[in-house]
Amino acid sequence: MSESCGICTPCRAGNFIIQRKLERLQNGLANEADLKELKSWGTIMKNTSRCGLGKTATNSLIYAMDKFHDYFMQRLDKEYNGLNLKFDMEAATEEYEKYKI
Ligand code: SF4
Repeated sequence: MSESCGICTPCRAGNFIIQRKLERLQNGLANEADLKELKSWGTIMKNTSRCGLGKTATNSLIYAMDKFHDYFMQRLDKEYNGLNLKFDMEAATEEYEKYKI
């Protein structure tokens, strides 16, 4: 993500979105749709990025997802039912509350 020059959208946006989804996965908040979207973004970036950086940026991730499918499945939020119940509204607005008049 930090090496993207930002000229083309698939690489610029795709790397950002992939990073956010990997953070969700790392924090146990991802669901199966996130895994599908990770793969979709890998395909989009590979097919539409302008240079080799964007075209290959997701290679290792997609390879790991294929080779270690069980590991990725274990990292999913097992209680996910379509709602993000773990979202903490107070923590999310904490900074805003400091500046509230
Ligand atoms: S794919 Fe290449 S040209 Fe496109 S944003 Fe990424 S680094 Fe820049």
